[in-house]
Amino acid sequence: MPVLACIGLSILVYFLLLNNIKGAEQNEENTHCNKCNEKIKSTQAFCPNCREKLREICTSCKKTIDINWRYCPYCGDTKENR
Ligand SMILES: [Zn+2]
Ligand SMILES: [Zn+2]
Repeated sequence: MPVLACIGLSILVYFLLLNNIKGAEQNEENTHCNKCNEKIKSTQAFCPNCREKLREICTSCKKTIDINWRYCPYCGDTKENR
């Protein structure tokens, strides 16, 4: 039955994709707030607890960079240039 095979394959692909999404979530880097030590996800720009600014946008390449970094790791721009 080719139709059944098709459905079976679709379900298999669905579960493979689901596992990939779960894996990506687990790989998400976690850091801590400099101020209150609250757990922060790498995607968050502000601390949800004390609103400390944790990330900023590079003025040259517009990528999100860590506030503690002296240079942009993507384009090498320095904060002093701002
Ligand atoms: Zn905080
Ligand atoms: Zn940059």
